[in-house]
Amino acid sequence: MSKRYDYDLFVIGGGSGGVRAGRLAAALGKRVGIAEEYRFGGTCVIRGCVPKKLFVYASQFGKSFEDSAGFGWRAGPAEFDWPTLIANKDQEVSRLEGLYRKGLESNGADIFESRAVFEGPHDIHLLGTDRTVSAERILVATGGVANLLDTLPGHHLCITSNEAFHLDSLPKSIVIYGGGYIAVEFAGIFAGLGVMTTLVYRGDHILRGFDHDVSALVQETMIKRGVRVVLNRHFTKVEEGGVFGRQVTLDDDTLLDCDTVMLAAGRLPYTAGLGLEKAGVETGHKGEIKVDAYSRTNVPHILAVGDVTDRMALTPVAIHESMCLIETEFRNNPTSPDHDMVATAVFSQPEIGTVGLAEYAACMEYERLDIYLARFRPMKNTLSGRNEQMVMKIVVDADSERVLGVHIAGPEAGEMAQTLAIALKMGAKKSDFDRTMAVHPTAAEELVTMYQPSYRVVNGKRVD
Ligand code: NDP
Repeated sequence: MSKRYDYDLFVIGGGSGGVRAGRLAAALGKRVGIAEEYRFGGTCVIRGCVPKKLFVYASQFGKSFEDSAGFGWRAGPAEFDWPTLIANKDQEVSRLEGLYRKGLESNGADIFESRAVFEGPHDIHLLGTDRTVSAERILVATGGVANLLDTLPGHHLCITSNEAFHLDSLPKSIVIYGGGYIAVEFAGIFAGLGVMTTLVYRGDHILRGFDHDVSALVQETMIKRGVRVVLNRHFTKVEEGGVFGRQVTLDDDTLLDCDTVMLAAGRLPYTAGLGLEKAGVETGHKGEIKVDAYSRTNVPHILAVGDVTDRMALTPVAIHESMCLIETEFRNNPTSPDHDMVATAVFSQPEIGTVGLAEYAACMEYERLDIYLARFRPMKNTLSGRNEQMVMKIVVDADSERVLGVHIAGPEAGEMAQTLAIALKMGAKKSDFDRTMAVHPTAAEELVTMYQPSYRVVNGKRVD
């Protein structure tokens, strides 16, 4: 490898994708530099998946205390302390951040705690030390940022998920704007912690893109658990004032009073101010870096992975893209990332676990579908008396018998989706599900005991 440059690989962004690529390249003996302007770990570790899941756990205890009564427990009045949760969460996040740094350091990568911007196709300027370094290859892994809706009057009075992890005190009432992953997960968190929670969404049902039976159950259960869900509405402005300090006006002039307003209206690729134009790198209309099947930009030695490419904004996908990139660039083994049959979980309450095509999406590609649908009360909800259900759905191509998608809403749905993804990735047929012995008593056994289709779909039309 050429010594004309300071580094064989320079990585901009110390999140899941960037750190994995930097660590693997360094472990191969490459000269690696990596710059991060905030904290190593990126969105997932610092302000996303990890702290969010800890918050989800925290928010579920209240219901567990209530449910325990049906199993004979007599617990005293429970109290929740927000500062304790924040402090313990911060400690865990710092521990993980340390592991990310250690992985880089122990493999010999140079770490720069600085914002890095392009100065030319091979040159990176490190703002922290006012120094310029050169690299043969450069990887952009800067992730995404919350959409701040800056044309919305009063948007500066709102928080995003970033600030939600650091609030000094737990809100008493919150209005959340959006109907995707973050909006729904935080609605569950705040409602579970006893906050009066309203979710406002512009569409007619939350979680667009998910299978309808699954998103419908989540919406129904959220409402049962006390979340006020306002559909087909937009924010028109946010102001100081009202009864609790903030007032949201909707497009039908409804006024919503609360103390905290959270925007969860999507995330955008983080490319602003990166100087990509100085390197001649092309971006799309959202600012995303355009890449080919090998994560190469139009400038072949400049690469990009993760949320900044706007392919699939999920941590394991960014990591996978980085691993493929290392194979391609440094191991002479061209490997393009595989974005098919990616399982995902939404840590809503109830949780969603899903892999493969939703029924509506399968309809567009397949002529004849068999749909297996079960909706039932999970066993734990019998003695607890909790009137909440679980849903499981299997979407099958009737002609080939191949299972195209499985969608679950209920306890541990995410864990189930992970294992189901292996079977679906292998091309499992419905007959493979049928000949698999049930694990009893579990909720998941339903997946292998639905022998008859609940209904059929032909050319997009349901036939019972
Ligand atoms: P999502 O894309 O999931 O949801 C964005 C929501 O905001 C949608 O309901 C969308 O409406 C709405 N929206 C978008 N633009 C506007 C606008 N201008 N005005 C009003 N509403 C708007 O994004 P999130 O920010 O929730 O999450 C970002 C990504 O991060 C996710 O897509 C996911 O890939 C990842 N993520 C994954 C998690 C996990 O794995 N558990 C958890 C959190 C995030 P509409 O549907 O009508 O477009």
